[in-house]
Amino acid sequence: MPPLTITFIGPQGSGKGTQAANVRNYLKETSDKPIVDLETGRGFRAMAEGESYTGERVRDLLAEGELVPNFLTSSIVMNEVAQRLTKDSHLVIDGFPRNLDQARVLKQMMEFYQRDTLIVFHLDVPDAVVLERLKGRQRADDTEELIAERLRLYRAQTVPLVEHYEQEPGVVVATVDASQPIDAVFSSMQATLERFL
Ligand code: AMP
Repeated sequence: MPPLTITFIGPQGSGKGTQAANVRNYLKETSDKPIVDLETGRGFRAMAEGESYTGERVRDLLAEGELVPNFLTSSIVMNEVAQRLTKDSHLVIDGFPRNLDQARVLKQMMEFYQRDTLIVFHLDVPDAVVLERLKGRQRADDTEELIAERLRLYRAQTVPLVEHYEQEPGVVVATVDASQPIDAVFSSMQATLERFL
């Protein structure tokens, strides 16, 4: 198996975090390579707890359901990757890229690190299913208005990445019906991963 770079395109409530964990477990069982996991939302939540002016601004954006600007996203990604990525690691990314500019950054990064296998799992799920699922979830930034705002941004900025990647040579895009139960979603994803065994 070559060192894989795997990312997810899916709205909040699509099961991205859970499926990223499933992918990591699968790779642990099927490959000897180290696994680096990268979750930009976690990085930003940590940043928002800081006392600095940067922390304060990030806190404001998270509280408004906005995306954090690309220069900060790039710096979070690079801090993590520069410290942890080795030549043969699998890289499993949750939460990046979220727009076309970030996809360009990821492309530069792939070239710089001489990685050529990018798998994009598109977790496709209707807004109504997301809203129903998130009713039961209790995170401080999960008010109904913020969820709606994040969904709007997701449809406007992130979904266009699917088409972008479908046209990009060498990128494997797997669209999965993410309104199915978690195990069924992962079974579909596994079929894609098996191609690289
Ligand atoms: P998440 O946990 O992935 O839903 O991320 C929580 C919040 O962090 C998002 O609502 C955004 O405000 C911010 N965030 C996470 N990843 C990114 C990204 N790639 N680009 C911009 N903002 C991001």
